Amino acid sequence: MRRKRSAADQQIADLLVTAKKSLDLSVAFLSRMDGTTQHLEVVETSVPVLVQEGAKVHQDTSFCQAILDGRLPAVIPDVEESPLAMSLPAARIPRIRSYVSTPVHLSDGSLYGTFCAFGFRSDKELGKRDEALMKVLASAAAVIVEPEVRDQERRTEIESRLEPVVGDGGPVVLLQPIVDLASGTRVGAEALSRFPAGWGRTPDVVFAEAHSVGMGHALELQALERAAEHLDRVGGYVAMNVSPATVLTPGCGALLHRLPLDRVVLELTEHDEVEDYDVLLATLAPFRAAGLRLAIDDVGAGFSSLRHIVVTSPDVIKLDRSIAAGVATDRVLATLVGSLVTFAHGSGARVVAEGVETAEDATALRALGVDYGQGWHFGRPGPPEALAVPAPRPPVEARPAEVLAPVAALSR
Ligand code: C2E
Ligand code: CA
Ligand code: CA
Repeated sequence: MRRKRSAADQQIADLLVTAKKSLDLSVAFLSRMDGTTQHLEVVETSVPVLVQEGAKVHQDTSFCQAILDGRLPAVIPDVEESPLAMSLPAARIPRIRSYVSTPVHLSDGSLYGTFCAFGFRSDKELGKRDEALMKVLASAAAVIVEPEVRDQERRTEIESRLEPVVGDGGPVVLLQPIVDLASGTRVGAEALSRFPAGWGRTPDVVFAEAHSVGMGHALELQALERAAEHLDRVGGYVAMNVSPATVLTPGCGALLHRLPLDRVVLELTEHDEVEDYDVLLATLAPFRAAGLRLAIDDVGAGFSSLRHIVVTSPDVIKLDRSIAAGVATDRVLATLVGSLVTFAHGSGARVVAEGVETAEDATALRALGVDYGQGWHFGRPGPPEALAVPAPRPPVEARPAEVLAPVAALSR
């Protein structure tokens, strides 16, 4: 049975048909050489019984390898005239008698494999011109296979990086304090995954990579599992990040069933499109009824979070760092934050500001009505032990007149 061809393979097949017809040979194929095996990736043949797409042969006893090594010429009009060619397995089965092979090189010069055609009869007319045509077709084939090769390399690299982490039960999960801006007491913490520093990638990038190779749900569930383990070690709620797609997996439901839901906040970001809000909401409904709170993450970051908010009626909205940081000195941001607070409170949601790095911003945010703050000013993400003893900072002094003045000025 021939596997279904990809669009790229179909393009290769068209090149092979051209080769086969132009050279008037019975078979043309593109092979990939992996060092030990020659894979006949795409095959156009007049005799499918003898040569099949997907077939594999030993690379070192193949015609192509002998040609790559220079032991045989690139064009062999009559195999029977060469004792070496006659000694190769393919001279007996499928009884090759004429052969043309050109290497397929990728843009970095590496060898991908070969672009070939052969016949079951000798063909004295095969010559340099045929080889020239095959070379042109081979370079066209190289351009077509290159993206697939690079994508496969990317996938392999990601998989081999992630496998040890998954094998180890998932990423390390740190906790970052979330603080009541009015009292300075910690009310909860956000669980944030940490991957090996050497990867040089933020966790959102790693999760996106994992999803791109089909490991995303597993990795997210492991991160949730690890975040949930922290519930026993710290007070307050634990906010856990999860993508809308992972929420829909049975594994996520099973996990949520085991948790003290009144201490869990799920943070949903809109980086990933929500395909069907009804399904998402229906999946979450029983857990929300049992106390689970829902936060919409990254509000104001430029994604369509407002729609997310309207549709999901979350318990918490989290203002993105890009609109919370610097609010003390930026009246436009202050106006935006003020409006979002009004909007959130009007729909019964609490507001957390992220990326609070300075006391000035904390003060300004409080004055604008933001309920909670999270950021380096209150504490960096760290191990749960760092949170175990709550060390609330003194309440942040609000200076409403100063902070609200620009807002009032703008609204005039
Ligand atoms: P996020 O949910 O918006 O998390 C907040 C990010 O801001 C974190 O980056 C945090 O370390 C950083 N941050 C906190 N306070 C400050 C501050 O004062 N200043 C600055 N400049 N940054 C601050 P991080 O840990 O690199 O995480 C990036 C994103 O990765 C998260 O954004 C979240 O979307 C995603 N992520 C992290 N852990 C998980 C996880 O376990 N599961 C899933 N699905 N996503 C995760
Ligand atoms: Ca988050
Ligand atoms: Ca966020």
